[in-house]
Amino acid sequence: MANKQPDWTGYCDAHGKRLFSSRKRARKQIREHRNGKGMREYPCTLVDGHFHIGHLPREVRRGYKTVAEVHGRKR
Ligand SMILES: [Zn+2]
Repeated sequence: MANKQPDWTGYCDAHGKRLFSSRKRARKQIREHRNGKGMREYPCTLVDGHFHIGHLPREVRRGYKTVAEVHGRKR
């Protein structure tokens, strides 16, 4: 059995989530394992250049807020 390298590279204790080393990898994970339904990737606010995947907050889906606002990052 080939030991496949996982797409996620670590674990973020602060957020309790898997860390992906790139946005591309996080997106791939969503596509392949979550069907992309209501999920999105977003940058971890603590580990620079790394990403988490998570459910879209209800406010974002309804267009009340942007993901950046929910996670405390304004652009
Ligand atoms: Zn994090």
